[in-house]
Amino acid sequence: MPDNFAFIIRSGGANLRYSEFKVSYAIAVGQVSYIALIGHNNCGMVNLISRQNDFVNGLVTRAGWPKERAEEHFIQFAPMFEIGNAIDFILSETKRLRLRYPKIMIAPLFYLVEDNKLYFINE
Ligand SMILES: [Zn+2]
Repeated sequence: MPDNFAFIIRSGGANLRYSEFKVSYAIAVGQVSYIALIGHNNCGMVNLISRQNDFVNGLVTRAGWPKERAEEHFIQFAPMFEIGNAIDFILSETKRLRLRYPKIMIAPLFYLVEDNKLYFINE
């Protein structure tokens, strides 16, 4: 990616539902007209619930959180960030963003970790 080529908003699972102000800012102030929505395989937001123990233990040992607080944190937020199937989620997020920003062109893309390439998702 060339320097200053694009606004980059990183969000788990290519989920922009909780980054919408940044998206609106990039469009309104940054004069963005196109969005490349890029998901990837091996995404940690797919089957997130299976990582509860790693998440809780990581916060306890790495950040010093009490176990109960880490569990509550996971239980509160995991349902918001769980995405199910990555490609299905990218396509649903693409549709949602097109309705929200009708004049902005949105391209659903998929990054394959194994070959380090970007693929256009055929809708
Ligand atoms: Zn991911």
